[in-house]
Amino acid sequence: MLETTIAGSLPKPLWLAKPGVLWAPWALEGEALAVAKLDATMLSVAEQARCGIDIVSDGEQARQHFVHGFLVGVEGVDFNKKKRIGIRNNRYEADCPTVVSELRRTGPVHSAEAKAARAATTNKLKFTLPGPMTIIDTLANEHYRDKVDMAMAFARLLNEEARELEAVGVDVIQFDEPAFNVYMDEAVQWGIDALHVASEGLRSATAVHICYGYGIEANIKWKETLGQSWRQYEQVFPALDRSRIQQVSLECAASKVPLELIGLLKTKTVLVGAIDVASDVVETPEQVAATIHAATKFVDAERIIPCTNCGMAPMARETAYGKLRALADGAALVRKSL
Ligand code: ZN
Repeated sequence: MLETTIAGSLPKPLWLAKPGVLWAPWALEGEALAVAKLDATMLSVAEQARCGIDIVSDGEQARQHFVHGFLVGVEGVDFNKKKRIGIRNNRYEADCPTVVSELRRTGPVHSAEAKAARAATTNKLKFTLPGPMTIIDTLANEHYRDKVDMAMAFARLLNEEARELEAVGVDVIQFDEPAFNVYMDEAVQWGIDALHVASEGLRSATAVHICYGYGIEANIKWKETLGQSWRQYEQVFPALDRSRIQQVSLECAASKVPLELIGLLKTKTVLVGAIDVASDVVETPEQVAATIHAATKFVDAERIIPCTNCGMAPMARETAYGKLRALADGAALVRKSL
């Protein structure tokens, strides 16, 4: 009970990419880069296990960014034709690639690092993919009729990818949908349907991660506009609870989300974010335990997987791994007390 996991990303080693930067350029190229990505993946898996994390991830070491890492393997996305667009409902601007023709995978995108991660551990393995709604929010569209049409095209590609990851031995496939916290109506209208397409026919566990983002300045400013009580989850969780997705990863640590909202997930396994990724202060195991305990008031401990609030890619490595140790130790404290 209370097996621990992480939301997804971890900082990369210095020899792979510049630390402390999102979208950091690779420090190597060609064959050296390909090998280094796999080395970093194996290292991140070993480090997670050493910290006591039960369900480990590839740490997203082989991708530059959690969305564009998948897009580099998709034909129809023109990375040379970038448009500056406001994403997450204009929270920030980014130079986004353009969809110029029918989308098609040119081959497996993430199989190599999934295989490396699988070979590096006997722990359960989770692999993250960007969700369809979040993908299309990070792209310009010059080909599809509308964004829903484009999202469903991506959902089909994600399904092909997810089936391959499952065949490699991945135990949990997680779709990252921070956009669900921005476009709540659309998440209910078509976002969950798109997740169903992406997860169609999978035997591995399926998860969706919905968060308030990395601890970067644009997100911190956005959170300041959300007031004292963040109720975005309230609009999406009832529909999500009726969906076929089995696990929901959400923020609970140092968050203004009213904790009772997680009680809306009556049938799901809940990945309780007990580590704040927007702060460099490493939690104590007791703080982590208190967050998990608080969550057990609304969700049975049997359905709780202690987790991080979000990814840790922009963090210093020692901070990130210190937080993972606190997560594992805090979960152990709760296990002992139950
Ligand atoms: Zn997140």
